[in-house]
Amino acid sequence: MSDTTTTHDRPVYVIGAGPGGLAVAASLRERGVRAVVLEKSENVGASWRRHYDRLRLHTTRRLSSLPGLMMPRSFGRWVARDNVVRYLEKYTEFHEIEVVTGVEVTSISLADDGSWLLHATGGRELTGKAVVVATGYNHTPRIPDWAGLDTYTGDLIHAGEYRTPAPYAGKDVLVVGIGNTGAEIAVDLLEGGAARVRLAVRTAPHILRRSTAGWPAQATGILVRRLPTALVDRAAAPMARISVPDLSEHGLPRPDTGLYSRVRQGSIPVQDVGLIDAVTSGRVEIVAAVDSFEDGKVVLADGDRISPETVIAATGYRRALEGLVGELDVLDERGRPVVHGGRTPKHAPGLYFTGFTNPISGMFRELGIDARKIAKAVASRG
Ligand SMILES: Cc1cc2nc3c(=O)[nH]c(=O)nc-3n(C[C@H](O)[C@H](O)[C@H](O)COP(=O)(O)OP(=O)(O)OC[C@H]3O[C@@H](n4cnc5c(N)ncnc54)[C@H](O)[C@@H]3O)c2cc1C
Repeated sequence: MSDTTTTHDRPVYVIGAGPGGLAVAASLRERGVRAVVLEKSENVGASWRRHYDRLRLHTTRRLSSLPGLMMPRSFGRWVARDNVVRYLEKYTEFHEIEVVTGVEVTSISLADDGSWLLHATGGRELTGKAVVVATGYNHTPRIPDWAGLDTYTGDLIHAGEYRTPAPYAGKDVLVVGIGNTGAEIAVDLLEGGAARVRLAVRTAPHILRRSTAGWPAQATGILVRRLPTALVDRAAAPMARISVPDLSEHGLPRPDTGLYSRVRQGSIPVQDVGLIDAVTSGRVEIVAAVDSFEDGKVVLADGDRISPETVIAATGYRRALEGLVGELDVLDERGRPVVHGGRTPKHAPGLYFTGFTNPISGMFRELGIDARKIAKAVASRG
């Protein structure tokens, strides 16, 4: 790829062809701004192609559609993984988005003339009039630095590698972490015939029904999003007591920090896709958090030592933005961008980020909103 354009007609480079990057490119195009999406893998929607088979959006089809193209009705209310991928392919085609695959951007720097220089694999150097980083909140699997892990020879994978329950049929499996992913994998294992499923929990989460009497939890999330945290916490507590049974005797007490306070700390509630029943019936056993690994065993925080045949660490991801923009002083102490959407750092004008927040109102929806804001900001900069 060569870069022979003048400053004025240089494109905007969007890094990452997930829903975030594609939505930005479509919104820029709608405003007549040329955008080129650079994607390190071979296809758009790479993250969704890797997700486990049973995954469906837990946000509704209508509230997860990206700007300028609705997901078709035939996908149903809770869209299956394969249909999310199909939608992203269709979205790219429909908006005639320019995507260059197989290009990984390794670092970004600001040139003297105010343009942005992107360094990419294969020694490529590209110059854009602005850059949008859409490399994903769930970029790099994170496994805690558990003591003894380096000497543990048992079977251990990160949840990002989990596809189906088939390899675990008849096995004793420990899932570590009760986020949405850990909770769903535990249920999937159970339904897929695992002999024993334990779920290691450090902090009991807030659990919500995906919808109640047809009203999706996401819609409530949108309504309360701008309300004061304490108010939402107070309103959510009685609702939870009505809709979710007390699971204390099964190891999941109701959290003592309010629902929205937890969201503010970065932990969104767990949507129930069968976990409540599985825990109540004792088919998914809640155990204490993993503390360390010793002599081929998993040592739990309460001192128990257990020997599962497989450990699945649903312990989250890192943003891993340090390599890309670490030199630019645009990350906070947790490695997240200090701005998102239409805002751009003062000392890095023309550098935008999308997809690095974890909102209660649904990420696809927020990616769409941020895309429009970014396109507006880029277009008004000229
Ligand atoms: C299991 C799971 C379920 C989810 N369910 C929902 C849901 O129901 N509803 C909802 O709203 N949200 C959901 N989310 C959250 C979020 O919507 C998705 O993670 C979504 O894919 C985020 O889109 P994105 O474009 O920001 O990132 P991604 O989809 O991760 O896309 C980032 C892209 O950037 C590419 N890339 C990364 N680094 C580089 C680089 N240096 N150079 C070039 N390319 C690069 C990657 O290959 C990838 O294609 C879910 C997330 C997970 C993990």
